[in-house]
Amino acid sequence: MSHDKNEPIPVLRPRLPSAECILPYLRRIDDAGIYSNYGPLAREFADRLAGYVAAKIDGPSLPPAVLTCNGTSAIEVALRVRALAGRRYCLIPAYTFIATAHAVANAGLTPYLLDVDAGSLMLTPAIVSRALPSLPEPPAAIVVVSAFGAPPAVAEWEKFEAETGIPVVFDAAAAVTSLEAIGAQPQCVSLHATKVLGMGEGGAILSRDKAFLKQAEALTGFGFSGAERKSVYRGGNYRPSEYAAAVGLAVLDSMDEKLRLLKSIADRYVQACAGKSIRLQDGVGARWQTMTFNVILPPDRVEPTLARLDERKIEWRRWWGLGCHTHPAFSDVPYGDLATTATIAPCVIGIPFFDRITPAQQQVVMEAL
Ligand SMILES: *Cc1c(COP(=O)(O)O)cnc(C)c1O
Repeated sequence: MSHDKNEPIPVLRPRLPSAECILPYLRRIDDAGIYSNYGPLAREFADRLAGYVAAKIDGPSLPPAVLTCNGTSAIEVALRVRALAGRRYCLIPAYTFIATAHAVANAGLTPYLLDVDAGSLMLTPAIVSRALPSLPEPPAAIVVVSAFGAPPAVAEWEKFEAETGIPVVFDAAAAVTSLEAIGAQPQCVSLHATKVLGMGEGGAILSRDKAFLKQAEALTGFGFSGAERKSVYRGGNYRPSEYAAAVGLAVLDSMDEKLRLLKSIADRYVQACAGKSIRLQDGVGARWQTMTFNVILPPDRVEPTLARLDERKIEWRRWWGLGCHTHPAFSDVPYGDLATTATIAPCVIGIPFFDRITPAQQQVVMEAL
């Protein structure tokens, strides 16, 4: 099948399970007459999600995930539990999706922006260690962000937390299917339609720390702990409904198939980029899958390449923009040296990537690059 040159190529087209696939789960809601408050479908989804992730990382079984209504609130809840009391700043990478900064602010903290590593596009313990002495005061927590679904370096951050006492929370929003390890430090994931494991809106927190999970779950339901309707923690309502859980269960039913498809599409781009001056994120396609496939262009090739993409009606996106400090809502937050962010952010370009993209369309994209 050849590609019609007048037909634009979209950058992302999410696809969730069909109504037929969700229907059996909806019937279970009708039968049970339970619609929210950790009903049977939410419990099953929390359990199956943890089982799915544990099986993928080939590790011991995980406690059920704490479910939230979206990924942003998962980060907020984890921070509310973990951030050190009496401290103001939460360190986050300047280069992230802006949701990270919102979650930090909603948890009552001020984002303090740090640079990212040019290789991984992520915060590293070395970057934080270098910044610590120049901070106005010690931080309450750190949010380490997985770049577009790349697996975070869990062991390094466990070591860092053990040495410094600064709690680490992972914004692994796009990484639920690519996590390679899960310890006590919470992994907050997004199940938004545009993520690999997308269910519309949804989020989850994975961790091996049962006491943390218990408190985090209490926070998602007004801080009620135990059977008594007594609010023990300040939280809110972050719960997903049973209808959301129904979609989530249907998503898990076809997850492996979707991952295989995304891998074959990613592999085609990876092969086409081999030997070219276009850099890709380490391991993408081979080790982990994403819905926001990026090319990292040499700085002098960005503008001409974008012009060619526009000319050929190939949609592209800077998924994370140019850094949190460039958004008006966060232009007043403090930050450290952001030299790498300033250099690399303009060069990271999301290219068309979705399950129904054809090899012919991918060929057109690669020619334009
Ligand atoms: C998608 C995303 C979020 C937000 O998740 P939502 O489910 O949309 O709230 C947060 N951080 C990163 C890095 C993301 O990619």
